[in-house]
Amino acid sequence: MATELLYKQPKTLLNKGTGFLSGYSHSLNPYTGCSFACSYCYVRQMPVSIFRKKEWGTWVDIKQGAAELLRKELLRAKAKGPVTIFMSSSTDPYQPVEYKEQVTRSLLEVMVQEQPDFLLVQTRSPLVRRDMDLLRELGNRVRVSLTVESDLDEIRKRFSPAAPPIAARLKTLELLKEAGIPAQAAIAPVLPSSPEFPKKLKKVVDRVCVDDYFMGDGSGGKRTRKLGISSLYEEQELEEWYNPSAWRIVYDRMKTVFSEEQVLLSQQGFEP
Ligand code: SF4
Repeated sequence: MATELLYKQPKTLLNKGTGFLSGYSHSLNPYTGCSFACSYCYVRQMPVSIFRKKEWGTWVDIKQGAAELLRKELLRAKAKGPVTIFMSSSTDPYQPVEYKEQVTRSLLEVMVQEQPDFLLVQTRSPLVRRDMDLLRELGNRVRVSLTVESDLDEIRKRFSPAAPPIAARLKTLELLKEAGIPAQAAIAPVLPSSPEFPKKLKKVVDRVCVDDYFMGDGSGGKRTRKLGISSLYEEQELEEWYNPSAWRIVYDRMKTVFSEEQVLLSQQGFEP
């Protein structure tokens, strides 16, 4: 489905980190909306989606003048105290339109000049590779958290058909590692995966974070239940993977190849 693209002039960019992101001083969304349209996306149940009255995933607003605005807000915030930024909480900063618009890249350029104390880049897109030159300049002040919910691409196609293939994400983690850019695989939300998943990740990353709908959707799983995601599991006879303890399967498997401190759980894995 074609994405409806609109240009918008935001009044603010940096928002206060709250709830799941209370460990951050700010969150930063270069876009509003997200054309990856994941079936399980909890943002579908949030005001930004509900008030739009258009199906989540079919529209994206491009924030114009974002770099200049960020520069001003960042300087102001830094004068008040430590600045830790989560990018992004309700969009993917590297969604398809970013290839052309480069809003996220322009924000990174500002953050290289006016460095925050910490920046977490949360994405599922291989496009983040394009900006490795800038990410490298942030040294240990940055971590790329790349979503890899499963190692099985047929599962990815069922739950988020418009999102990038798993192989491209693993390759991206490999490139980030080679470039010395801190990164983690975010198995979030946990989707059905194979017993080989830990070994595949071990080759490309030295830190994983496991999260699920029940811990990570900000409502104890209520938002996800409203999305009717359980039917996707029932159709495929994968019900064992839709329950509040399914994360354990993946968590325990990861611990067979990663050390204790390399496997983080839910919010802990996304902290600055
Ligand atoms: S990439 Fe993230 S923000 Fe976009 S639809 Fe998927 S879960 Fe939602």
